[in-house]
Amino acid sequence: MAYYHDNTIIYLNGTFVKAAEATTDYYSQSLHYGYAVFEGIRSYKTTNGETKIFKAKEHYDRLKNSAVALNMPYSWDTDELIEATYEVLAKNNLQNAYIRPVVYAPANMSFNPNNESYIMIAAWEMGLFLGEKLLRVMTSSFQRPNPKGFRIEAKASGHYVNSILASQEAKAKGFDEALLTDMNDYVAEGPGANVFFEKNGKLVTPPTGNILPGITRATVMEICAEMNIPVEERLFTTDELKQADAAFFCGTAAEVIGWQSLDEALFPKNWNDTLGRKIQLAYKERVTEATMIQTK
Ligand code: PMP
Repeated sequence: MAYYHDNTIIYLNGTFVKAAEATTDYYSQSLHYGYAVFEGIRSYKTTNGETKIFKAKEHYDRLKNSAVALNMPYSWDTDELIEATYEVLAKNNLQNAYIRPVVYAPANMSFNPNNESYIMIAAWEMGLFLGEKLLRVMTSSFQRPNPKGFRIEAKASGHYVNSILASQEAKAKGFDEALLTDMNDYVAEGPGANVFFEKNGKLVTPPTGNILPGITRATVMEICAEMNIPVEERLFTTDELKQADAAFFCGTAAEVIGWQSLDEALFPKNWNDTLGRKIQLAYKERVTEATMIQTK
């Protein structure tokens, strides 16, 4: 996938610049130590043709919380960043897009804190994934980082080495995606998505604590509340998960995507008859719903 071309514009510390001409510091603490925080956000073309960033405030609030959790200075105003993001979309003629803000550190080869942080916002085309083929998932040999060794609730760049290793391992073994357990061998999440399973008309998902508290996970729970679908947040093992009727991942990029199998064990319920499928359709409606948000 080409993320940018010669004329792609990014937002960089208060200005809009061509991505191909933007520079950064090779002595940035972020590059050397993974000391940066980021977000993954999506925008959609709504049913009346506008561009809408889905849950923009929630994502920028999480970006700020992630920065604060890592002791990074953060002085940006959420509304201004949302405005700048709409401008990035407009300048690049994007409607259905993936948006990637990154807050990063200045040149600093020590572990000392910094007086300032920098921000970059990029966006690239990304269509709906919803309804694509079901995933063959593999339990990873990599566990999620121990929350006592990290700020697991922060979306910190360095954590994603763990996601990369897990995802690459699963793909090298011929699977579509990995499922990671926590340090106590309970199911945690995917490399970039949260997990739910269905059993006897109920959904179950791991509690927060050892996972990234996903914004899509919260949206799925809102949808469940509206549809009177019971959801339990509790710990469970991969053995229990393999006995489920159905399962799905959810995340900003993944949206809601069903599973075919876990470690080759097939889920018995036809995806089209699952609660996950109902939620997938409701999610699609929600993200493309027309609003009064003004587009640039
Ligand atoms: N877990 C991890 C590890 C992730 O990277 C993501 C993607 N941000 C998620 C869960 C899902 O979070 P969200 O729904 O906010 O995209």
